[in-house]
Amino acid sequence: MKLHVLGCSGGSAPGHQPTSFLVDDCVAIDGGAITTVLCEEGQEKIDHVLISHCHLDHVATLPFLLDNRFARQRRPIRFYGSESTLDDLKTGLFNNRIWPDFTQLKNRKSVALELQIVHEHQPFPVAHLKVTAHTMVHPIPCFGFLVEDADSSIFIAGDTSDADAIRAFCADRPTLKAIVLEVSWPDRMEELGRIAGHVVPKFLAPALPLHPSAELLISHVKPFYRDEVLTELRALGAPMRILEDGDVLTF
Ligand SMILES: [Zn+2]
Ligand SMILES: [Zn+2]
Repeated sequence: MKLHVLGCSGGSAPGHQPTSFLVDDCVAIDGGAITTVLCEEGQEKIDHVLISHCHLDHVATLPFLLDNRFARQRRPIRFYGSESTLDDLKTGLFNNRIWPDFTQLKNRKSVALELQIVHEHQPFPVAHLKVTAHTMVHPIPCFGFLVEDADSSIFIAGDTSDADAIRAFCADRPTLKAIVLEVSWPDRMEELGRIAGHVVPKFLAPALPLHPSAELLISHVKPFYRDEVLTELRALGAPMRILEDGDVLTF
């Protein structure tokens, strides 16, 4: 399984792309940085987008992906998410005011967009992968996604303030190769982390190690706090990799 980090920031600033991952070139997880990173050929390959939740840093480029693909697409793009997330996208973004309702648009070959509601702990196929959603602790409904192929699996957590719940979900998964976990702010912003539903390093510390063998990959650091957060994470003394935009990992 190939994981391409299109963006791993919890915000937007020069040199920091909002959250978006790409598995095996064809399945995106969140859409914060699809059209700002991938060229036309790369965008054409994406037929599936798993959406953790509808905060803008996770969906910002989805309207442009649909627009770029529409005129020539031969098959629909499918978005997967909770009923709440897809409903919010439809009423708040693809509402024919902010952006067209692409579920109602079709060219000569295809409807533009299909929405597929997925439910927690009910695995569903996505291209050649099997995906299982797990609920995160966040102010709005948010899923993390366990993504599996024949040989391995990775868990890409959505936004959350509860690292310990992720450790519990990932236990007893021997094929798990990596956990992507968000750490957004430094410890001094602990209160905001609790309110806004984000991890700070001191929330992570008691949950370590998250898994006996899976690699811990850190994402979603807020751009203007990156140096401070990285210093605090290193001080935890636990093995982890801080993701960077453009990283490509193979599992
Ligand atoms: Zn976020
Ligand atoms: Zn969020």
